[in-house]
Amino acid sequence: MPICPVCNGLREVFLICSNCGHSMIESGKVMDYYDDYSPYMEIDLMKLEDGYPDNNSGHKCAHLYRCPICQKDEVIFIKE
Ligand SMILES: [Zn+2]
Ligand SMILES: [Zn+2]
Repeated sequence: MPICPVCNGLREVFLICSNCGHSMIESGKVMDYYDDYSPYMEIDLMKLEDGYPDNNSGHKCAHLYRCPICQKDEVIFIKE
């Protein structure tokens, strides 16, 4: 069974707000209250962190990040 490293506390993800440059705060999973047409933004975290392309196209866990300064929302997918 796939495990999301963020949900399980195995990894913290740090995002920088593309609007104001402040670090964004993890605000939880978004699948429960986001609709299909919401503007998701996909970031390949595995690729960014270790330089290896991740060919695993399995489950992804969507997390919401919010900037405390300008209230900008960002949704990223964590590969499980
Ligand atoms: Zn998760
Ligand atoms: Zn911001």
